[in-house]
Amino acid sequence: MKGIIVGGGIIGLSLARAFHKLGYEIVLIEKGFLGRGASWSAGGMLAPQAEGLTGVMLEFCLQSREMYKNFVKEIELDTGDDVGFWECGIVYPAFSKEDEDILKKKIYYYTKSGLKANWYTREDFENAGYILGNQIIGGAFFPDDKQVDNRLLVNALVKYVKSSGITVMERTTVIRVNVDKKKFKSVTTDKGDISGDFCIIAAGAWSSEIYDTKVFPVKGQMISFKQQKGELDKIFYSKKAYIIPRKNSNIIVVGATEENVSFRPENTVGGIFVLLKGLLETFPKFKDREFLDKWYGYRPATADGMPIIGKTDVDNLYIATGHYRNGILLAPITTKILVDLIHRDEKNHFLDSFNFFRFIES
Ligand SMILES: Cc1cc2nc3c(=O)[nH]c(=O)nc-3n(C[C@H](O)[C@H](O)[C@H](O)COP(=O)(O)OP(=O)(O)OC[C@H]3O[C@@H](n4cnc5c(N)ncnc54)[C@H](O)[C@@H]3O)c2cc1C
Repeated sequence: MKGIIVGGGIIGLSLARAFHKLGYEIVLIEKGFLGRGASWSAGGMLAPQAEGLTGVMLEFCLQSREMYKNFVKEIELDTGDDVGFWECGIVYPAFSKEDEDILKKKIYYYTKSGLKANWYTREDFENAGYILGNQIIGGAFFPDDKQVDNRLLVNALVKYVKSSGITVMERTTVIRVNVDKKKFKSVTTDKGDISGDFCIIAAGAWSSEIYDTKVFPVKGQMISFKQQKGELDKIFYSKKAYIIPRKNSNIIVVGATEENVSFRPENTVGGIFVLLKGLLETFPKFKDREFLDKWYGYRPATADGMPIIGKTDVDNLYIATGHYRNGILLAPITTKILVDLIHRDEKNHFLDSFNFFRFIES
């Protein structure tokens, strides 16, 4: 069986690896370079609780968070790379009484659902050695939220797909999908047609350029700066900014803006100002640190904030996109439910909630 995967982000790369391991002939097509889309730009937080998720998205994201340790372990074994997986936990600081009330409600909701979540006062943080901005009155701690270094992870996946016999076509743009009698036949690229038995569209924020998926981009800007190695041992996440120390590293990354500006490129003065303000209101002590880098990316968003995964209106044409703010977190479970669907003909119950047809007018 020959499968074509369009898009070499974390979703396309994970799918390519999984199907290749099952013995499929895989062609992975990427318009730029593998792993340099949103999956490169992201923060790498595995954070269903800090994100404040509820309902089916919470359930889906929790299952994927649970799968992460094994997911990275297998990739690390395959490649010999350390991908910076770190069970560091996430603190959500409260800057006002209103924040405190909202966070305490979250703690109540999550603990009632059997998840770990605690409230710490400012004094508790001070006693643990944190020197916080003076507006912070306390914070929620979600010990089971964690992180992976998304750049190390996509690099490891790229290493795998390039050394495993998968056909990788970089700098090749898929222009359209060709269908005959409602059945997938081939894709047309700027380098010619490629036929296959099935195709999965995993083209992130650009998916609607290939097929009418109703996915749109939400731009996010990020920055990084230097810390002394080990200085910050947890992620601090709030509406102002999230501050992510990398494992065994002197790098801290800070994100991210949320901008509905289509594919407008570049970092902006306003975007970077927001991030620096959030950083310094959380940790004023980082004011004199060396600034390292700035970048931006496009989250693949949908109207209801949930992904689109599964079958389309064409036989053997599948989709895995719209992961919005949680695509790094959701790579393991997205891969699993598509493998179950295509390889085992097993339909996971999540496919109902994330189905392609919910945005298609009948
Ligand atoms: C600033 C920012 C911070 C984020 N932080 C987090 C976080 O902390 N945790 C988390 O879980 N998620 C986070 N996300 C979200 C996450 O990055 C995305 O949901 C995820 O990377 C989507 O993966 P993907 O593979 O679908 O898309 P991408 O990584 O964007 O990959 C899609 C690929 O498809 C290619 N492509 C597009 N069109 C074509 C075509 N026509 N032909 C061939 N190839 C094509 C693109 O070039 C691209 O390489 C963040 C996103 C951003 C932007």
